[in-house]
Amino acid sequence: MTCNASPTRSATRSCTIAGSMRTLTLVVVLSLAWAVAPLASARTVLLGRSWQGRPIVAVEVGNRLGTPVLVVGCIHGNETGGIAIARALERLSPHDLDLWIVPDLNPDGVAAGSRKNAYGVDLNRNFPWRWRRLSGVYASGPRPLSEREARIAHALILRLRPHLTIWFHQHLDLVWASGGDRRIEKVFARVSGLPYHPLPQLAGSAISWQNNTLPGTTAFAAELPAGEPAPAAVARYVRAVIAAAHAL
Ligand SMILES: [Zn+2]
Repeated sequence: MTCNASPTRSATRSCTIAGSMRTLTLVVVLSLAWAVAPLASARTVLLGRSWQGRPIVAVEVGNRLGTPVLVVGCIHGNETGGIAIARALERLSPHDLDLWIVPDLNPDGVAAGSRKNAYGVDLNRNFPWRWRRLSGVYASGPRPLSEREARIAHALILRLRPHLTIWFHQHLDLVWASGGDRRIEKVFARVSGLPYHPLPQLAGSAISWQNNTLPGTTAFAAELPAGEPAPAAVARYVRAVIAAAHAL
């Protein structure tokens, strides 16, 4: 029965009740949506474009006056497991964090299934700290910050000065700690389940550059296991990001 199909009094009353129920349901749904929706404060920023013109974006969630934290889901295009974690982080709204998320710094590499960018450069060897010319799998480019994508991340980090930056990689299955605050890194390791390993700083890496250029801040690599993380694993890594940020 549709509400405008019957002229009888009982039918009209039924329609009124049904209408009220619908209104109530709508109010409840909207209220729930408001309670869980963090998106009022979410902001998507176009940081720039890759060499092949693909957009590189950041999403800011949480509190702009909170502690600045940056998460990069992917820098090596054949290590895409962190992108799902980045997408999950975008749905949060931590009240005390100014959380910036770059799901994919190397979209050309992702499109090609390649570690490197469109010019065959390993972006994580293109940063200025102790940059040196490398070839092969770690090709570092013709000079520090020669690559657009690296310049985008470099500029963002200098602007945000994140107290914590987490870079997702694959697939060593560990926390690669190299120069940050070990206490914070260990919180991430404990909550994520990734084994904690102090490892050497790498010439030209984004992490070594930040740890040496912005003293008092922490950057580290979360090396995920191979493959795409299952939903439960994504949730665990999200909890680890927030736990590490709250340990600052
Ligand atoms: Zn990597």
